[in-house]
Amino acid sequence: MFWRTFTTKAALEADIREDINSRVFGCEFESVLLSDLISERHYFCSRHKIRPSRFRKEPNKKNYILFGFFDISREGRQIGWHPASWIKCVKRPPNDWDLIIEAMRRRIEPRMQEYRRMTPTCEDCHSAPSEEVHHSVLSFSEVTTRVRDSISDHDISFCMKDWDWFSSDDFALPEWGAVTEMFELVHDFSVPRALCKCCHNKTKKS
Ligand SMILES: [Zn+2]
Repeated sequence: MFWRTFTTKAALEADIREDINSRVFGCEFESVLLSDLISERHYFCSRHKIRPSRFRKEPNKKNYILFGFFDISREGRQIGWHPASWIKCVKRPPNDWDLIIEAMRRRIEPRMQEYRRMTPTCEDCHSAPSEEVHHSVLSFSEVTTRVRDSISDHDISFCMKDWDWFSSDDFALPEWGAVTEMFELVHDFSVPRALCKCCHNKTKKS
């Protein structure tokens, strides 16, 4: 079983799509399936026992955006209507370390883009324009593995403790703490290399 009575991920997605497609834009509706899915499988809702009670879809460029009504008045604050991405809940729920790795990628992205801008030609074939920045010497996954090997579970909790999970921004690493400091230290050993798409694909194969 994939989840509940659903044997596959595709079967679950098909049922949810059918449900949402049948709804009228702007009209509130209840869906036990969506409420269960989000409260059980969303990384934040599942940990904090938060369950959206009703939903509403609004049109956007990609068809619709789904909002859930999240009542957390027992916490002394309120969320109310908030975008509810059900597709994220179909995937394996990310753990804390997964979220930190995503935040590491976002943290270095501006630096990588700047390097690519300063290095307009591919550093491997010396002909095509550069389109990606590859981590050479130490790959990105080697960087994250080394960081993980040198920090504790407590460091991970510390890294996440002050983030406001109700913020609409993606989780960002704090400026202080062992995770951020170790990441910066290890990442400095990785050498950026600006590559064209073709040369970058070769690095993935090798
Ligand atoms: Zn190239």
